[in-house]
Amino acid sequence: MTGQKKRIAILGSTGSIGTQALQVIQSHRDYFEVEVLTAQNNADLLIAQAKKFKPNTVVIANEDHYIKVKEALLADDVKVFAGENALASVVQMDSIDLVLTALVGFSGLKPTIKAIEAGKNIALANKETLVVAGDLITSLARQKGVNIYPVDSEHSAIFQCIVGEFQNPIEKIILTASGGPFRGKKREELKNVTRAQALKHPNWNMGAKVTIDSATLMNKGLEVIEAKWLFGLKADQIEVVVHPQSIIHSMVQFCDGSIKAQLGLPDMRLPIQFAMTYPERLNSDFPRFDFSKYPSLTFEKPDTESFRNLALSFEALDRGGNMPCVLNAANEVAVEEFLSEKVGFLEMTDLVAQCMGKMNFIARPSLDDYLETDKETRIKAKEFIK
Ligand code: MG
Repeated sequence: MTGQKKRIAILGSTGSIGTQALQVIQSHRDYFEVEVLTAQNNADLLIAQAKKFKPNTVVIANEDHYIKVKEALLADDVKVFAGENALASVVQMDSIDLVLTALVGFSGLKPTIKAIEAGKNIALANKETLVVAGDLITSLARQKGVNIYPVDSEHSAIFQCIVGEFQNPIEKIILTASGGPFRGKKREELKNVTRAQALKHPNWNMGAKVTIDSATLMNKGLEVIEAKWLFGLKADQIEVVVHPQSIIHSMVQFCDGSIKAQLGLPDMRLPIQFAMTYPERLNSDFPRFDFSKYPSLTFEKPDTESFRNLALSFEALDRGGNMPCVLNAANEVAVEEFLSEKVGFLEMTDLVAQCMGKMNFIARPSLDDYLETDKETRIKAKEFIK
């Protein structure tokens, strides 16, 4: 890049994606400038990051930690704010070029909307934002001339496959799934799997929410919906294939039948870096893929009988309206309750199915409808658990 550095805001800088983004930035200090860092609860890490990267502003969303962060950064010339509202307003600062949204779950929706309204390009790691309100987000982005660069590895792969092909019709995309730690297991065997077992992903090192989602295949379901909105596809143009080695990160089949794939070792830093530097590619020292170490790459159909979340996601996509929002909210509650060992592994899916059956359908939801749907679904889900 010539001239000015790219000025980045990272929402959720203390999480898995946020910390890896800062590793990328650390390797390219002449290319990036950190403008804003935000965290939900992890005040200590936020303080350490602020001292190292000297952002203009930090936000600690949990106001209980405000004094601590404020005092720790008194001598560092860093502005400190607290609370959800601060999060929504700092993303609109003039001095930001790109907002990396690495918040977990539904909480990413409002700040992402605010950033798009202010005309900021988005590096999107928070897939739930598109799952919940893909129609609103993508139409607002079009209206504001904002680009949304995917950080999710599968969507980054698809994006990398279509660079230079933007005018060419896509026949379908093939999202790859690792299958998670329980690939090959049947429902009977899934009944009693534990939190610890579900948190052990075979290939990817990620945050707790997405790791559990990977174990239930809900992550792939959310990614199907995310892909629909990012690439303007219909449900029948999205195929999921299980690829246990996680080397092919996803594929695009064009109208002439040609398939392009993007490959590499599973390392989130690559899609994070590409989203932050597109259209450029910067050097990296990430480990390189060696074909001789992978004599076979294998593929199989997903087992949607044992892992019903994938089928439920296609159903939510098919019904449209607020159904993906219901699916997401029910799933967020389910994962939370599973992580605190209050519901079992299969009950997570039951909860999602129950909520989808019970919530009122809204065909063309407004933002308020989405907020309301999210709230009511959470209440309903908690009632089902009791
Ligand atoms: Mg992914």
